[in-house]
Amino acid sequence: MPKGGGCSTIITLMTIYSFYQQLYDWYGPQQWWPCRSGQPWEIICGSILTQNCAWSNVEKALDNLRQEQVCSPQAVLAAAPDRLEAAIRPAGFFRQKRAYLQSAAEFFLTHAEEYRCSTDLAGLRLRLLALKGIGPETADSILLYAFQRAVFVIDAYTRRVARRHLGLPDGLSYDRLQAIFQAALPQDVQLYNEYHALIVRFCKDSCRKSGCGERCPQPAAAIIPGL
Ligand SMILES: [Zn+2]
Repeated sequence: MPKGGGCSTIITLMTIYSFYQQLYDWYGPQQWWPCRSGQPWEIICGSILTQNCAWSNVEKALDNLRQEQVCSPQAVLAAAPDRLEAAIRPAGFFRQKRAYLQSAAEFFLTHAEEYRCSTDLAGLRLRLLALKGIGPETADSILLYAFQRAVFVIDAYTRRVARRHLGLPDGLSYDRLQAIFQAALPQDVQLYNEYHALIVRFCKDSCRKSGCGERCPQPAAAIIPGL
């Protein structure tokens, strides 16, 4: 439970949960992760490639990787760098992302099993964050969507919804915002998976960067002190 705030904190936490229920009523299950194989490695690739890139372009890059039969950590490490870069080019920043993929491939070649089984979630997360090109959003996407671990993913859409509709102040750190969502929700992988996907859907459908749309509820009234 976040510190401070008393009753108003509880109201905010309830708002976070009831907003999930509202989105679910509107849109139904989103059934992410949107990948073909459902294999952890494809999800890890997608999590890295989607940095600063629209998903439609990530799909082109993933298609290329499939065509080139570069669909496993082993294959990524065996591929010539220029071949790998050509395949992921549609996702942009292809030199950087090639290096990130190789670093992740090396790591998961030996550590994937721990990510499925270890109970030290905080430790697993820290080790991901130490990898080249993996920030909190990518690390948490990998933990949640590739390994079904209960960590809530924060992204720009989550921040927008938190600010406009959940009464949360701007400028909270990634970890703070994540802690608030996790305090508000049952620790449930499926729910975390769906809620993040529903927020993305809601932002594309209504709560756009340029402003709120038809589906958007009235802005949340209170900015809660102490959160
Ligand atoms: Zn809105």
